[in-house]
Amino acid sequence: MNTVSDLFGKLVFNDKVMKERLPKATYKRMHDAIDGGMPLDLEVANVIANAMKDWAIENGATHFSHWFQPMTGITAEKHDSFISPTGDGKVIMEFSGKALIKGESDASSFPSGGIRSTFEARGYTSWDPSSYAFIKGKTLCIPTAFCSYNGEALDKKTPLLRSMEALNKQALRVLRAMGDNSTQKVISSVGSEQEYFLIDKDLYAQRKDLIYCGRTLLGANPPKTQELDDHFFGAIKPRVTAFMKDLDNELWALGVYAKTEHNEAAPCQFEIAPIYTETNIAADHNQLTMEIMKKVAEDHNLACLLHEKPFNGISGSGKHNNWSISTEKGENLLEPGKMPIENTKFLIFLVAVIKAVDEYQDLLRMSIASAGNEHRLGGHEAPPAIVSIFLGDELTRVLDTIESGEEYIDDFERVMQTKVQVLPDFAKDTTDRNRTSPFAFTGNKFEFRMLGSGISIAGPNIVMNSIMAEALSQFADRLEGAENVNDEIKALLAETITQHKRVIFNGDGYSKQWEEEADRRGLLNVKSTPEALKHYIADKNIAMFEKHGVFNRTEIRARYDIKVEAYCKTLNIEANTLMDMINRQIIPAVVEYSAVIADSALSKRDLDASIPVDLEIETVKELSVLNGELKKRVNKLSSDVCAAGKVRCMEERAKYFRETIFDDLLSVREIADRLETLVAEDYWPIPTYGEILNSI
Ligand code: ADP
Ligand code: MG
Repeated sequence: MNTVSDLFGKLVFNDKVMKERLPKATYKRMHDAIDGGMPLDLEVANVIANAMKDWAIENGATHFSHWFQPMTGITAEKHDSFISPTGDGKVIMEFSGKALIKGESDASSFPSGGIRSTFEARGYTSWDPSSYAFIKGKTLCIPTAFCSYNGEALDKKTPLLRSMEALNKQALRVLRAMGDNSTQKVISSVGSEQEYFLIDKDLYAQRKDLIYCGRTLLGANPPKTQELDDHFFGAIKPRVTAFMKDLDNELWALGVYAKTEHNEAAPCQFEIAPIYTETNIAADHNQLTMEIMKKVAEDHNLACLLHEKPFNGISGSGKHNNWSISTEKGENLLEPGKMPIENTKFLIFLVAVIKAVDEYQDLLRMSIASAGNEHRLGGHEAPPAIVSIFLGDELTRVLDTIESGEEYIDDFERVMQTKVQVLPDFAKDTTDRNRTSPFAFTGNKFEFRMLGSGISIAGPNIVMNSIMAEALSQFADRLEGAENVNDEIKALLAETITQHKRVIFNGDGYSKQWEEEADRRGLLNVKSTPEALKHYIADKNIAMFEKHGVFNRTEIRARYDIKVEAYCKTLNIEANTLMDMINRQIIPAVVEYSAVIADSALSKRDLDASIPVDLEIETVKELSVLNGELKKRVNKLSSDVCAAGKVRCMEERAKYFRETIFDDLLSVREIADRLETLVAEDYWPIPTYGEILNSI
């Protein structure tokens, strides 16, 4: 195994392997299933399962697993070995079509939002032939969807697939109405840029907050972090290079198109981006990537942090979701071409995105809401909580012209003149970059930048595909009924721009003025997670999801409950962890250090009563006062956590956590962080930010 191309996809039951190993007719049936969604019968499934098993065993597998994505946000797998007894005390290795297609799992042990309780626990996993099976360790993993006995989706894959189908259906209607009779399928694609931190495992292991919460709950800022901007794109350290090399190899073997790696803004922060692919696969691959990152980090005695805000005062981690739609022939429907003003197809799809994002700002905001992301949004590293679109000057002018009906003036400089003879001139992008925008057009795709680093990309893409399907369905209704399609398109474009241009903003999204301006424009600015989540169950949103068959009311309600509960539980764990650290580590350390200083004063006095001990007395006083205050605040946190547990209604409880516990955590931390700057290094019981951030 020498070259990357030999290695790539080595552990994947991909098209090449299928072509080699399946009988021609079976291979064709498999393709009909993947491309056209045709059902597979048991006979065909038996042949595929057998070929899969033989291939898997040759590649070292002994088990198979239905690999799925329950509502925990991570993946789940239950392993079964291939063995089957032969009656003579021996076994053969077997894998049937039935076992490939359908698995059974206890649904009540995963979050179901009340859909499954322990007495009605049956849940099914069903094979998703559109995502290739792969081998992880000793196990053949089969990507599957997960649903309840009654067919409600209990996972992230099912609704994502439904949303892709809805988008396909409505986009095809629009294309047909515009006279395109050849396109067979419209596909949404995603490339997700994943940010993360790497820190030394030994230091990680000494911090309960990192272990239990994935983020630090206390820690004073060191003298230097990222203010000199010297980490972004900086030379990568050898230990990290070694990690990235192993990570690439593992991901490539699994068929993940890992492509770009670089240092990010904060010390110890990095990014990995794959080449974009179909959304369903991109979501599977991102889940795999996160899992493999953690594992490879362990191999290098590192800890990989995927939390949105591991360190206060230092950039958090996001996950940029680059989204586009294209036809099965590879025509990107968001490609403006040389003259966007004349590219009607592009303009229709562009304004559909603008309409969708404006009408469903609340759902987009909801889709990225989590306890972790709450710490990041609106900081000086991530977009604000307001959803707006960056289009850049050229497209904004195109839309202005269409709206006003005036003539288009094109005076954009498209060649970059380097003004240095040895440097060649080159073509410029149509848009500049605007990193402050939550939803930016970047050439031929939209980059949704509000996602936190830890979440599955399925949720935001379910929303993205569904709201786009809705906008397109309204367009299709009009175009299909139009007497003159071209006139109708013109009117539709101009009207949509007028109605939804408020959501376009090309300026500085981090500025205070934008918040005020957005308020005047009537854009939503939802700061808290519980508030954002409520939009999930707004009637207009339920109606939209139901119309396109993505979710029914029960499924949405369940998902809402799961998210609200997860929020409460996360804050509860953080509160318990902080109480533990303060009571059992920080307070005792301060007491111990104070005693050392007090002893010093006493021994000085013993030696000679005239030696000044003001320093000791002042220090002990300051430490004792602060430690007393710390105890008071942690006691308040403790009683507030008890009170939270007594709030019966989950929604009310989430509100209580956000309004009370959230602030309690900060108020405890404030004192602890001051103490950290006063207590001698050797007495501070946990690794500091300075130590952690310089550990690799
Ligand atoms: P940057 O950090 O400059 O935004 P990166 O190269 O880190 O860019 O990531 C860009 C991501 O966008 C990659 O995952 C890339 O594959 C993806 N991408 C590029 N073109 C498209 C497209 N048409 N549709 C979806 N994603 C795309
Ligand atoms: Mg990038």
